[in-house]
Amino acid sequence: MQEVPVRVAVRIRPFLPQEKLHHHESCVRVILNSNQVIVGRDRAFTFDHVLSSKINQEEVYNICVSSLVASFFEGYNATIFAYGQTGSGKTYTVGGHTAAALTEDEQGIIPRAVQQMYNIIKENHNVEYNLNVSYIEIYKEELKDLLDLETSSKEMHIREDEHGNTVVIGATEVACDSLDEVLNCLAIGSAHRHTGATNMNEVSSRSHSIFTIALQQRWEDPANVANGEPVADDDQSEASVHTMAAKFHFVDLAGSERAHKTGNAGERFKESVHINSGLLSLGNVISALSDPKRRGAHIPYRDSKITRILKDSLGGNAKTCMITCISPSAVSFDETLNALKYANRAR
Ligand code: ADP
Ligand code: MG
Repeated sequence: MQEVPVRVAVRIRPFLPQEKLHHHESCVRVILNSNQVIVGRDRAFTFDHVLSSKINQEEVYNICVSSLVASFFEGYNATIFAYGQTGSGKTYTVGGHTAAALTEDEQGIIPRAVQQMYNIIKENHNVEYNLNVSYIEIYKEELKDLLDLETSSKEMHIREDEHGNTVVIGATEVACDSLDEVLNCLAIGSAHRHTGATNMNEVSSRSHSIFTIALQQRWEDPANVANGEPVADDDQSEASVHTMAAKFHFVDLAGSERAHKTGNAGERFKESVHINSGLLSLGNVISALSDPKRRGAHIPYRDSKITRILKDSLGGNAKTCMITCISPSAVSFDETLNALKYANRAR
């Protein structure tokens, strides 16, 4: 596969029962074997992957994520984003829904990725692994620790260390030893996404959530354990120890719908403005990263919290895949067109 800073996929969700009931018409078509999607009569877009409504969760995982997990174990930071209007399938795709409510076939990206990670961990006896989970939310440009609601946003700070690694100081990190432990963190944090909201969907559709797996690997040079011969106690040659660290972010972005659509003044409007600024700066960063003419040029990471947190995990030496989720319904024509234009900038 071609090496690009950001791979872009579009996923069209199937019609929902309610939409079928009301005989919604479709406004998107997929051109088979061409990675093209056509909106309305003739607005054609080409992406790295176009995933029709028939593509299931496992296939989405294999196409978009599996190779990133392999790179992650080679030491690359990786990020997958879900972008799109509220109701387009972002949370379903990423896997942030309460997993217990879903059948195995319906599990989204996070549980599948973690399963693949533990499969790799179990196969490599010579490597010592430390896996830590954190889960934060950005709402109105403020950080919230989804794994510990007691943490106040003032205690959390985004910092860059001397090696250029981004860290969120103050965010809870939970050391995990199994798939179940990671999924437990996911369930707890996902449930916390909704607290404090008058309407469950409101905060989650206006906030970005970032589920992060940090992996540390440690192993000794195989030369010292060659042929299974133990290194003598009095052997003066130092066994050389290697370490490697990488992060994998799973990002469920705020709904991409336009502010005016919400039809709210005051506080609500301020929220929309904040969220749009995060999506806007993310779009600017990804578009700058994808433009070969801008290599080495200034990338505007500092413009929002989301881009500051993801700075070391986008483009460059990182593996990134953006999945733009769209509804098939003609009712969503405007938002779908906007989402595809946004995704198109990333190419
Ligand atoms: P978002 O997070 O973008 O607001 P959701 O992930 O909550 O959207 O999806 C909206 C609804 O559509 C949910 O009921 C979800 O189960 C359903 N849905 C989304 N994508 C699919 C899909 N590919 N197949 C079946 N149902 C889906
Ligand atoms: Mg959602």
